[in-house]
Amino acid sequence: MGRIYQVTVIGMEGEKKTIDVATSEEEFNNTTVLELKKKLAEKLPQEASGPYRGLLNQGATCYLNATLQVLFMTKPFRQRVLQGAPSDTSEKLVSALKELFKELSSQDRGAQSVSTKEVIKALAIQNVYEQQDAVEYFLDILEKAGPDVAEVFSGTMRNIRVCSKGHKSYDDSSFKSIPIALNTRDGPFRVEDGVQSYFASTQLVGDDQMYCETCDDKSDTTWRCEIHQYPTILALHLKRFVYDYRSYVFVKNECPLDVPLYLSLPEHRYSLYAVINHSGSRYGGHYTADIRSFTDNKWYCFNDSYVTETSASKLEKSVAAYLLLYQKIDSPPAYEKRKETPKFHVALMEPRTEHLLPSLTERQRRTAPSSSVAWVEDIKEEKTAKPREPEETGSAEQCAGAHNKQHLQGKDGEAN
Ligand SMILES: [Zn+2]
Repeated sequence: MGRIYQVTVIGMEGEKKTIDVATSEEEFNNTTVLELKKKLAEKLPQEASGPYRGLLNQGATCYLNATLQVLFMTKPFRQRVLQGAPSDTSEKLVSALKELFKELSSQDRGAQSVSTKEVIKALAIQNVYEQQDAVEYFLDILEKAGPDVAEVFSGTMRNIRVCSKGHKSYDDSSFKSIPIALNTRDGPFRVEDGVQSYFASTQLVGDDQMYCETCDDKSDTTWRCEIHQYPTILALHLKRFVYDYRSYVFVKNECPLDVPLYLSLPEHRYSLYAVINHSGSRYGGHYTADIRSFTDNKWYCFNDSYVTETSASKLEKSVAAYLLLYQKIDSPPAYEKRKETPKFHVALMEPRTEHLLPSLTERQRRTAPSSSVAWVEDIKEEKTAKPREPEETGSAEQCAGAHNKQHLQGKDGEAN
């Protein structure tokens, strides 16, 4: 009869619980720390979890757990998943989400945490011990779930160009998130300022001039974008990870953010209901989600197996907020309807070439150039070569996606 190897866990209020983790020395010695944590999470009582169930961490899948809880707590998305008739391409993922959401919906107190194994399989995640980017997976899941299921996150961005003689042209692209640059390292940075900067006009002069169809020539161009179709859920991706070309690593900007509970855009007002947080560095860290329940209006912190009540005051000067989700709440009065002039005029601290990414072709995105000048030149060539073709590939979402792809290069960290 071998010895039983046990671990004593001390709870938040000092209560102790002893858990068997192995029945032989060999088994104990062969248990990794991550496996041990997983075992403990499975065996710990969940009575402190309130009305919601946690998700098991399958290794280092906190990025996925935070994302899945946000999607589950997005009422219209949950409804689409539970009721929808997925198309062939999205069937596997949507049925895995459906099973997961059904389990999460049975929220009896003390219920065990739910496994995400089927979703991991449907997403073809090979290594569950490798941390990934939560925003990348948020967009990936929406893409793979298909346009019907993900519709509530979908909006249209209008990219508007005005040449020096006043000729106006535009193209539209769809988006599922808006990347917000953080122009300070010290903070506190106001998210509203980041949103204003995103929609501010950019002057493209000199080598950055764009082609005007009417003039049939290159010209100094005023460029800006505005939301043409407002999404039901607006996702703001805070660009905390910036690639440092001197040190060849991603550097995290941990400046404190003032996250507004309400966001007023020219045609709609939005209310914050979910935040994905990241703590630690790019190469190892931890994701959690703070979410306001649409059932009881209380804020909960979803941290893998643990779900605890929290409050929105956590969002003041947040150094961890990474993805913000706002739900459309109303329409403004008619007199506030769209005007010809842009609503925001903010002085820019650096060239905003990221705005131009939506116009890039797939090939150009894949061969992402390393300098902003190269981006602009690529776009100029594209415009000159095919001035009349409608843009099909662009979106603010793909813009964010392209940046995230870069984020993932060189990543080797693990987290829980
Ligand atoms: Zn012109």
